[in-house]
Amino acid sequence: MARVLVGVKRVIDYAVKIRVKPDHTGVLTEGVKHSMNPFDEIAIEEAVRMKEKKIAEEVIAVSCGPAQAQETLRTALAMGADKAIHVEVSGPEYETLQPIHVSKILAKLAEEEKANIVLVGKQAIDDDCNQTAQMTAGVLDWPSGTFCSKIEHGSGELTVTREVDGGLETIKIKTPVVLSADLRLNEPRYATLPNIMKAKKKPIKKITPKDLGIDVSPRVEILSVEDPPVREAGSILPDVDALVGKLKEKGFA
Ligand code: AMP
Repeated sequence: MARVLVGVKRVIDYAVKIRVKPDHTGVLTEGVKHSMNPFDEIAIEEAVRMKEKKIAEEVIAVSCGPAQAQETLRTALAMGADKAIHVEVSGPEYETLQPIHVSKILAKLAEEEKANIVLVGKQAIDDDCNQTAQMTAGVLDWPSGTFCSKIEHGSGELTVTREVDGGLETIKIKTPVVLSADLRLNEPRYATLPNIMKAKKKPIKKITPKDLGIDVSPRVEILSVEDPPVREAGSILPDVDALVGKLKEKGFA
């Protein structure tokens, strides 16, 4: 049976309007609503379904981040993960934590936990990197199936449907494997109140990258973070002639 390690990241909630810090070093996070990265909810849901179908024996959720990452882990536990690992990275170290660091951490934990499926979201909606699955597969030297919209299980082998540009690609891959969840893989469940209560009793192990022997010193320096350009207001024209006139005036016709 499979042992599934799932990466869950705490990110600024998708509905929040992001504001850049006045000194342009990043975005404002204090007092801002955070949630589990939406693609990671899909990843957890898929892992829990594997357990329900008796394909997986254990689902382990991992989050690298400050103390509040434990809230995200509690959500994963309430959705059905069996146990959780909090890799504590905070302050300036967290601000410069990049996919290569998370990948090394996930790879090391996959070995320690004897996982044969590492499942992550296709991308974190805060940094939009879309690198962690690919790099984790690279570090472990395992095959990968990214952007999964369907995962079917055979013995020692998976058939994975991937959302690629212009269509769907179906591939067969052998386990151990790294997978990333795309939007259409499933619809994640809501954690129910009884399950939220039960999750409080499930174990969260706390460790640091140092305990795993992983150096998280920055590889990339952020020079500046800027707001996107403000969209100019549109104008309503009375008729087609006015539109054509305007287009000519702007050099489009
Ligand atoms: P990214 O490559 O940063 O776009 O992230 C892709 C996926 O990697 C996310 O959807 C998560 O599943 C996982 N991941 C990224 N950062 C973290 C983190 N700090 N803790 C746990 N999982 C993470």
